[in-house]
Amino acid sequence: MKSSSHGRPLGKWRRRALWLALVTTVGAVTSYAALFRGPILPPEPLPATPIVDLHCHVAGVGAGNSGCFVSGRLLKSWKLGFYLRSFGVSRREMQESGDVLCGEKLSHSVATSRQVGRAVILAMDGAVDAEGRLDLARTEFYVPNEFVAALAARHTNLLFGASINPYRPDSLARLDWAATNGACLVKWLPSIQLIDPSDERLVPFYRRLKELHLPLLVHTGAEHSFTWSRDELGDPGRLRLPLSLGVTVIAAHAAWPGRHEGERDTDRLARLMTQYPDLYADISSLTQINKLGALREVLRRPEFRHRLVYGTDFPLINMPIVSPWFFPLDLKLSQMWRISRIRNPWDRDVALKQALGVPAEVFARAERLLH
Ligand SMILES: [Zn+2]
Repeated sequence: MKSSSHGRPLGKWRRRALWLALVTTVGAVTSYAALFRGPILPPEPLPATPIVDLHCHVAGVGAGNSGCFVSGRLLKSWKLGFYLRSFGVSRREMQESGDVLCGEKLSHSVATSRQVGRAVILAMDGAVDAEGRLDLARTEFYVPNEFVAALAARHTNLLFGASINPYRPDSLARLDWAATNGACLVKWLPSIQLIDPSDERLVPFYRRLKELHLPLLVHTGAEHSFTWSRDELGDPGRLRLPLSLGVTVIAAHAAWPGRHEGERDTDRLARLMTQYPDLYADISSLTQINKLGALREVLRRPEFRHRLVYGTDFPLINMPIVSPWFFPLDLKLSQMWRISRIRNPWDRDVALKQALGVPAEVFARAERLLH
C-alpha cells in the first residue's frame, strides 16, 4: 500500500488512469456523435401573432371564499405543496391572500412572456353522486367555473375554460351560463370526474356544446396527477359519440400514455383522427421526462398532421419533470443551455418545443379553434 507514495507505481497507475479517461472520453464523444439525431422536424419560425396556451391549470385551496376544494387526502399528500410552489405561491400565502393570488401570479407570468399572449385557464368540476350532486367524498380537486370566469374577466390574458360534469341535473343550464360568461371551451377529466364520454345519456349535452360552438377538451390516456383514477374512462375510443354528433373534440396529451383492449391509446386516437375531421390533440405534457418519445411520435405520424394544438399543462412545465436537458440526442449542448436559462416558463416551453421541431401551425391553432 505504502508503495503508492513512491514514484514508480504511482506513475504507472497515473498513466493507466489517464489512458482510461482518454479512451472513455473519445468513446463517449464518438457514440454521442453517432447517436445524435437532431430535432424531430426542422424548426420553423414562430407565428407572428402571440401564442394561445390551450391547456393551463389554476389552483385553489378554498381560501378567500373561492369555492375551490381539495380533498383531505390530497391536502396531506406531498404533491399539493409541490404543485403550488410551481405556481410561485405557498400554501401560507394562499391562506393569507386568498386563492385569487394564484390567478394573479399566473396572469403576471403570462404578461411577462414574450411568446405566449393568452392562456386558457381550466376549471375543474368534481364527481357527482347518483342524484347528480357534487360528491366531495369522491372529488380530489374542485375549481368552480365562477372562480375561473371571474379571474378571466379581471385579466384579459386569461381565458375561461369551463368544466361541467354532464351528470349534474342542471348541466345544460350550467353550460349556457359558461357560454354567456365567456367560456371558450369545456374541459373534462373523465377518469377523475367519473364521466363516460360514450354514455348515450350525454347526447343532449353534446348537442348543446355543438350549438354553442364550444370545443370539448378531454383528458385521454392514463392519469397520474391524482391519488386514484378510473383509467378505462380515458379510452379515446369513448370519444366516438361526441365526434359522431359533430362536436369539436381535443384529446389532451394525445392520449399518451395508456392502453385499452390490448392497444396503445395513441394508436386508438390516431385511428379516430382518420375518421373524424373535428378531432384534435393537444401536445401538453409531451416533453415530460416520463413521456420521452411522445412528442416525436405525434409530430412524425401522418394521422396527427394539421391536428395538433399547443398547450403547456402549466404548472407542470415549471417543475423539474420538464427540462431541455432531457433531449441530448435532439438538441445541441448550446441549445439545451440557452433554453434552460430562459426564466419565463412559457417562453422556455415554446423555445423547447420549437427547437424540437413543433411546426408554427401547431402554435397558431388554438387561436383558430377558439375563434
Ligand atoms: Zn392538464
